[in-house]
Amino acid sequence: MTRFSGVVMATLMLLWGCDGAPAVDQAQPWRAEGKIMGTYYRVLVASPPAAALPGLNEAIERQLAQDNHQISTWQDDTILSRFNRYRGTEPQPITAGMADIVSTALRIGAKTGGAMDITIGPLVNLWGFGPEKQPSMTPDARQIANARARVGLEHLRLIETDKGQWLQKTLPDLYVDLSTVGEGYAIDHLAALLEQRGITRYLVSVGGAVLTRGLSPSQQPWRVAIQHPTDEAVAAEAIVDLQGHGISTSGSYRNYYELNGKRISHIIDPVTGRPIDHKLVSATVIATTALEADGWDTGLMVLGTEKAKQLALREGLAVFLITKSDNGFTTWMSPQFSSFIISRNDKDA
Ligand code: FAD
Repeated sequence: MTRFSGVVMATLMLLWGCDGAPAVDQAQPWRAEGKIMGTYYRVLVASPPAAALPGLNEAIERQLAQDNHQISTWQDDTILSRFNRYRGTEPQPITAGMADIVSTALRIGAKTGGAMDITIGPLVNLWGFGPEKQPSMTPDARQIANARARVGLEHLRLIETDKGQWLQKTLPDLYVDLSTVGEGYAIDHLAALLEQRGITRYLVSVGGAVLTRGLSPSQQPWRVAIQHPTDEAVAAEAIVDLQGHGISTSGSYRNYYELNGKRISHIIDPVTGRPIDHKLVSATVIATTALEADGWDTGLMVLGTEKAKQLALREGLAVFLITKSDNGFTTWMSPQFSSFIISRNDKDA
């Protein structure tokens, strides 16, 4: 068995600094980067006001650690891990931020007909993509059925009142996995932190999600590329100007392992209880927040090309899909996505 991605690779490329245009701002750009949530984060600030910089690095790290401490299932001492370990059905207190991420995830989960399901944890763990070890054998039908019996959005309830927020499960061993939305959540918080300090021109990325505001140091739009879906290639399928939006890509070609000669994707179809096995290889979504974009992309991946197109059109989503074909790949974008495109791979245009 070969694990190809211990650390999730971004399927979006940041082109800042590669656009050939020299930096024209007087103030030097500022940057911070590091590891969080099993992946990498990056913050780039163009023309930062001097007063905004003291302590900024520490504030960014504090914010990321705080988010991780709430929603990580990879550490035992987080609020979410405590909820997952709790074997009762009484409502458990959560933070306002967690209520935000859960309510967004539940809404998108319902819109995708349950394809995006944050109670998928037992199946993610069974197939070896959670904090538990990878399987050395393909899980059998009984194991899959057992895990599936512990999955379902109908078993999770979010309670919000003016006194606080609570999460309640109707199955004592329900396990919530926010991995699919955690990166977008963290990005939106970093964006708010920068804005509070008067920073208005920045790019923030965590794993496969990015958000930009204002112009780059060369007074151009920040440019983000959607990567060609092969293991090695760095070629771009399309380059977009996010115009202040968030973008997120979910793909089946970066995070997988091979078991008995078969590729096992980290994206699980809650209906079959098995990793997806169709020809849609990546779904990219642009939305007003990074959390929203991050929420939709996995659901679209689960649905496959045709149902993802229908959902994108029905919901008016900005979506770019890459599908494997007999002689390469085909791409499709919704009308909303086309308004963000700066350039596109010639063969697809
Ligand atoms: P996305 O497509 O956005 O999400 C795919 C992930 O969502 C899967 O890996 C699975 O966990 C889950 N998923 C699968 N199917 C579905 C479905 N149908 N509906 C909903 N969700 C589904 N990784 C580490 O190796 N070490 C760590 O310490 C670590 N800490 C983390 C802490 C946090 C707070 C978060 C959010 C993630 C952490 N990760 C860690 C996980 C890692 O970075 C994930 O692989 C990543 O979050 C998945 O993001 P993605 O963009 O690759 O995939």
